[in-house]
Amino acid sequence: MTEETPRKVDMEKIVSLCRRRGFIFPSSEIYGGLSSCWDYGPLGVELKRNVKEAWWRVVVQERDDMVGLDASILMHPQTWEASGHIEGFADPLVECKSCHLRWRTDEIKDNNCPSCGGELTEPRMFNLMFKTFMGPIEEEADVVYLRPETAQGIFVNFQNVVNTTRKKLPFGIAQIGKAFRNEITTGNFIFRSREFEQMEIEFFVKPGTDKEWFDYWLEERLNWYVKLGIRKENLRLRQHGKDELAHYAKECHDIDYLFPMGWSELEGIANRGDFDLVQHANSSGKSLEYFDEKTKEHFVPYIIEPSAGVDRSILAFLCDAYDEELAEGETRVILHLHHSLAPIKVAVLPLSRRDPLVALAKQIHADLRQCWMVQYDDAQSIGRRYRRQDEIGTPFCITVDFQSLEDNQVTIRERDSMNQIRVPVSELKDTLAAKLSGEELFVLPPGGKIWKGGEQGMISPQREK
Ligand code: ATP
Repeated sequence: MTEETPRKVDMEKIVSLCRRRGFIFPSSEIYGGLSSCWDYGPLGVELKRNVKEAWWRVVVQERDDMVGLDASILMHPQTWEASGHIEGFADPLVECKSCHLRWRTDEIKDNNCPSCGGELTEPRMFNLMFKTFMGPIEEEADVVYLRPETAQGIFVNFQNVVNTTRKKLPFGIAQIGKAFRNEITTGNFIFRSREFEQMEIEFFVKPGTDKEWFDYWLEERLNWYVKLGIRKENLRLRQHGKDELAHYAKECHDIDYLFPMGWSELEGIANRGDFDLVQHANSSGKSLEYFDEKTKEHFVPYIIEPSAGVDRSILAFLCDAYDEELAEGETRVILHLHHSLAPIKVAVLPLSRRDPLVALAKQIHADLRQCWMVQYDDAQSIGRRYRRQDEIGTPFCITVDFQSLEDNQVTIRERDSMNQIRVPVSELKDTLAAKLSGEELFVLPPGGKIWKGGEQGMISPQREK
């Protein structure tokens, strides 16, 4: 997107931070882990909720032309025949005759196993869908699949949504949910796993207007990442060549992010034409046409699909937010997460564990947690506590000190600048609300003195140690 040299973060540092601070753990770790499956810990689950919430807010809540859906993971097996997944959702694989590892043909350089150098079999197609059985009998007739994408649940509900919401074209259906793929090459932490979450939009438009809507969504989706703090120079658009286009797509662009292992897909935006609705109409025998009341025409809508990964977004947000700097002779690790994504918004830190202070701090904590995820931390030095919060991306720390008992004011310390301001306890909630929603101007205290963060109203920072 720009000519600037993008910055890369070491994946090891991200993995280690996630493990150490309880963002993400290997699945079933006490049994040695399960390959490419991950568990989100206490902070990870908050981050994940916030990413999904940030998507849902702009995609569904703030729009007139979008509704949500939550379809089941198990679907009628005919779905996957109609969608082309049974036939087409496969990678050609070769197997090493000595170590039995399987490889995608595009990973092989000199016709030998990349791991042990052994001889390889001829390529064989390998379907990426997970199979299971419905009901008590394990027979071929009872096979069902774990969905490999959330999209199909939307296509098969198209008519239900039109009938129940009376939405007129153009409109979209959005869904967040789990998807499963028996990926052959996994790795790179949560970038490619076998169980993951998608955030998908299927946007239904009149044929002929599809190009315009495709361009619209490309820009919208790219901006979503930028607004949530990802540096523009770490994002790029990549158009799929004709040989790379999926069987259903007329046009496709990837939004790539500069992950630690290099540029890789974060989200795909495809013009799927009428492929899906036509396929499901033919396979089910049910009409999936739309009736345009204005023009009195019946037609099958075209679909624009922005399809994003929750886990890949989380990885991109973490990589982009990660920073190390030298502060008072020590390395300060900071996650510059956008306020809306930060797992913990505010930490309440009493300067001492002595009674009257603790009572006030606890009262503030109880009050603020009505609005946000708030942590209370009274262990170790104030400097250590600030660092702990910086490392998990907490935007604001509230310090309650002995003076607070006299003047009923507390200190707000901001994560990125480490600036501190003093605020009456009665104004704390409003100030934090304004600051967390990105406002710079506050009115303090009753009587109305206006100041801007970093200028008027600043106090000299307390030492951080
Ligand atoms: P890739 O080429 O990287 O396997 P894809 O093109 O198959 O991805 P899509 O089918 O377009 O991916 O899926 C849409 C989005 O879902 C991707 O952009 C990605 O964010 C997410 N996604 C797909 N597969 C995985 C996976 N195995 N693990 C995590 N996220 C995934």
